This record gives sequence, C-alpha cells and structure tokens, in this order.
Amino acid sequence: MKTQMTVALVAHDNKKHEMIQWALNNKEPLSKFRLCGTGTTAKLVADATGLEVKRYLSGPLGGDQQIGAKVAEGKIDMVIFFWDPLQMQPHDPDVKALLRIAALYDIPIATNKRTADYFIGAITGQIPQK
Ligand code: PGA
Repeated sequence: MKTQMTVALVAHDNKKHEMIQWALNNKEPLSKFRLCGTGTTAKLVADATGLEVKRYLSGPLGGDQQIGAKVAEGKIDMVIFFWDPLQMQPHDPDVKALLRIAALYDIPIATNKRTADYFIGAITGQIPQK
C-alpha cells in the first residue's frame, strides 16, 4: 500500500490570492494528499477549497520553522512556497531556513505557481503546456 504524500502550503501575504486560486484549480489532485500549512495560508486554503489542511503557527510566529522541522523529520514530502520576492519579510531568516532545509533533505519545493503546476503535473501525468 502506498503511503499518502504530505504537502505543505505557505504563501506570503501578497501571494495568498495566487495560492488560493492555485489550490482551487488543483483541488482534485490536492485532495489525494495530506495537507498542512502555515496558519493563515492553511485556513484560507481550507476555507476556499473545503479540503482539510493542518494548521501550524502563522509564518511570522514560527510556522515556517515548524514546517522546516517536519521536513527534517521526514514528515513532509513536498512544499509549495509562494514567497514574495518584492517585499522584505520580518521572518526573513525563517524563510531562508525553510529553503535551506528543503534543499538539504532534497524535498521538492515550488517557489512559484508554474513550478507548482509542474509538480502536480508530474504526479497527475498532466504536464502544463507553455
Ligand atoms: P501565514 O504565514 O500563512 O500564517 O500568513 C506565511 C508566511 O508568511 O510565511
């Protein structure tokens, strides 16, 4: 029996709308995963899609670090992380730490929508067209 993949969702404030839209567009494939996310992102995605999303703390309050710890423990298999490249974040060190820990443990981490589409496409077999 295959174990279910766990996917973490994180979006900075200016990227939350994009994350909600992406989750709605991918509701069916996402429904096959165990989902978790930083506090606000998890709540917004859960409310919009009706999917169950485990909530960690809000990112600025340590949520990115909690997700990083789960990656290190081997409990998260993929991260969808829509970070904001145009705005400084108060928790910038945590953002960098999550990117580092994902690289260290060779966990796929999509940092924009198009990459996230390819990840889902790799799983569903529907690779997005250019
Ligand atoms: P949030 O955290 O989902 O609680 O807003 C995201 C972040 O800023 O890392």
